[in-house]
Amino acid sequence: MTAGTPAIEIRGLRKSFGDVEVLRGIDFTVAAGEVVCVVGPSGSGKSTLLRCVNLLEEPTGGTVTVGGVDMSDPDIDLDAMRRRIGMVFQQFNLFPHLSVLENLTIAQRRVLGRDREKAGRIARENLVKVGLADREDSFPSQLSGGQQQRVAIARALSMGPGLMLFDEPTSALDPELVGDVLGVMRTLADEGMTMMVVTHEMGFARDVADRVVFMDDGRVVEEGTPQEVLTRPEHPRTKAFLARVL
Ligand code: ADP
Ligand code: MG
Repeated sequence: MTAGTPAIEIRGLRKSFGDVEVLRGIDFTVAAGEVVCVVGPSGSGKSTLLRCVNLLEEPTGGTVTVGGVDMSDPDIDLDAMRRRIGMVFQQFNLFPHLSVLENLTIAQRRVLGRDREKAGRIARENLVKVGLADREDSFPSQLSGGQQQRVAIARALSMGPGLMLFDEPTSALDPELVGDVLGVMRTLADEGMTMMVVTHEMGFARDVADRVVFMDDGRVVEEGTPQEVLTRPEHPRTKAFLARVL
């Protein structure tokens, strides 16, 4: 990725499921090192937008470029591009029959071809980063939801992604477990990771985001600094949404 090339550039993005258009022309850019939080009501298209970035959903129109590469170009190595994009979901999707360490090493070994020693070293570095160095032999069912989500983040990081997508990573957690996960995400942001985060955690958006994008009904209604969007929203729909969630 050359300096100055946006990490993500979305232009005129449209996505329909059958007759229903759920993304209706989305434009925005995420700069390298930037943290962008995407907020908005349920059903507004946030998850679909995120899934279009790594082509888990195929856009019906418009373009998505990642690091200057057009994701819909049939000549690119899509798997190689996806390896540069880490994704963390609301549900942690860990392998229940594998230990924490194995959850972190399996894709490194199978997809990246790393040997056991190197994969293990990288996995352990990332377990330290998420505060779970002592749990490498545990199985997912022995961990709290917050710990499982931190394992999922460490697993994504172990692939060495250039950017990270988070889709409501704390929405499935008991309230007392949310803070640890947000803390890990904050550390990542401080280290300069490029991040696109769909979240209802307005405190996180206010403190950590460089920019907040408010979506409603398949469109970006308002975007700006957290101050602009969360403290002094201009659009009536943003105001109504914030009045409900804050
Ligand atoms: P959000 O994440 O903001 O809640 P989504 O992107 O999940 O919104 O969904 C936007 C709209 O698209 C919703 O109306 C949802 O029902 C619809 N949708 C999402 N995925 C599919 C799909 N695979 N097939 C049909 N409709 C879908
Ligand atoms: Mg969603």
